[in-house]
Amino acid sequence: MHEFSICSLLIKALDHEYDAIQPPPTGLKSVTVMVGELHQIVPDYLLGAFTALTADTRYEGAELKLEFTAITGSCSACEWQGTIQPPLFVCPSCDQVGVDLITGKELFLQSLEVKT
Ligand SMILES: [Zn+2]
Repeated sequence: MHEFSICSLLIKALDHEYDAIQPPPTGLKSVTVMVGELHQIVPDYLLGAFTALTADTRYEGAELKLEFTAITGSCSACEWQGTIQPPLFVCPSCDQVGVDLITGKELFLQSLEVKT
């Protein structure tokens, strides 16, 4: 279960963004995070980790919203592009192994909604 370590990183990024907001907000309503499906996050675990890690902090009660991006890639051999189903990183068009990833590795804060 790697959701707790991922969540710690997100909260560090959140601290950075939140502290930069002027005038300083009085609280956090929600945070939206883009998550590539390559991270194989279980949404319930990540939401649980967020609730646990933000308890008794200034983010307590904030809602974590997740937006998932599909894993897509392109093939250098036949120029195929499309969605990949892990764990098979094989081109469905020409069977070349080792498709180049286009999306699916994302993990970043998309937006914050704060109380003022
Ligand atoms: Zn191919």
